[in-house]
Amino acid sequence: MQPSRLNTSLVNLLNFNQAQLAEYFVGLGEKPFRAKQMMRWMHHFGVSDFAQMTDIAKSLREKLQIEAEISPPTVQLEQVSDDGTRKWLIGTDTTNSIETVFIPEDDRGTLCVSSQVGCALECTFCSTGRQGFNRNLSVSEIIGQLWLANKSLRQADGYDMLPASERIISNVVMMGMGEPLTNYDNVVTAMQIMLDDSAYGLSRRRVTLSTSGIVPAMNRLKEDCPVALAVSLHAPNDALRDQIVPINKKYPLKELMAACERYLVKAPRDFVTFEYVMLDGVNDTVEHAHQLLDVVKNVPCKFNLIPFNPFPNSGYETSKPSHIRVFRDILMQAGYVVTVRKTRGEDIDAACGQLAGKVLDKTKRSMKIPIKAVA
Ligand code: SAH
Ligand code: SF4
Repeated sequence: MQPSRLNTSLVNLLNFNQAQLAEYFVGLGEKPFRAKQMMRWMHHFGVSDFAQMTDIAKSLREKLQIEAEISPPTVQLEQVSDDGTRKWLIGTDTTNSIETVFIPEDDRGTLCVSSQVGCALECTFCSTGRQGFNRNLSVSEIIGQLWLANKSLRQADGYDMLPASERIISNVVMMGMGEPLTNYDNVVTAMQIMLDDSAYGLSRRRVTLSTSGIVPAMNRLKEDCPVALAVSLHAPNDALRDQIVPINKKYPLKELMAACERYLVKAPRDFVTFEYVMLDGVNDTVEHAHQLLDVVKNVPCKFNLIPFNPFPNSGYETSKPSHIRVFRDILMQAGYVVTVRKTRGEDIDAACGQLAGKVLDKTKRSMKIPIKAVA
């Protein structure tokens, strides 16, 4: 039996960014530069067995074998859609699970990463929000999604021939389950690992954080880890946004727009992406489009219109394609870049807002009856 199996409180090195790992090594009486080597083994090469780390002194490897581990969460299920989208159901403990989605496109491969088990914010059109909140994910569970996806894709047909130097995952979006800015410290540490050249080496422009608008955390993020920003707007006035994105009652549109302006001073891209879910008869009229133009007038931005992805008992319907076109054209005629998000992986329930995992709802929110919002 390996000595490590006798130790029940092993330190999981996937929880550390490079600076924290250096501190840990110094605590073991080692040189801090070992952290860089270890980051490369763990994240660049995806190695979890200390014995394979040949350029690390045997004495250190033996020490680590006794007190540390490289332990990603476990994959419970992997599904592949007809369009190449992949979804992993990842167990976080015996009762809860989260989901991670990989979306291949011609010029990029995007991984959609979760930050929490469930979500506490109760957006009425979101399947995750309907399930309630269980807990924050740890750093190892967040970065572990990238670690696992990389490993699994490397072994998958069509990717297995790629040279090791070529990235399969070129972009990360923090758009899975949960509100990343309410799990701030762990999300920032995980994103630092994504950006670290010794780990995944992604540029700030290729890591996007999506938030429903936690204003104080947006202010901190622009100092601590300014990545590309997407903001889930979804409504062009406070009355409607209060209903469908309830965090708006705390941070209303005027404050949110000011936070976006401040963020752009430090952001790696010179625009914010506003996400806008298209809900039939709720937020998709000509009047709403004009209100929206007025709300964002001081923020350099692009729009991403997301046709609502239905889930059982949602109480909402997707906007009619003709209404989406009219809405899009009004924004485009005002000079904005507008994309209408293509739904990917629908056959495996991997589309935006459909990620459900398995959330043991501590809040029992799923018992509540949704209110259909009116304009
Ligand atoms: N909590 C963060 C990130 C996760 S949700 C946020 O809200 O921004 C990622 C995106 O999917 C958000 O824009 C969210 O509003 C949107 N979304 C949620 N449910 C959806 C659904 N059923 N159909 C389409 N988009 C949805
Ligand atoms: Fe949470 Fe985002 Fe869903 Fe709102 S849309 S409930 S913030 S995951």
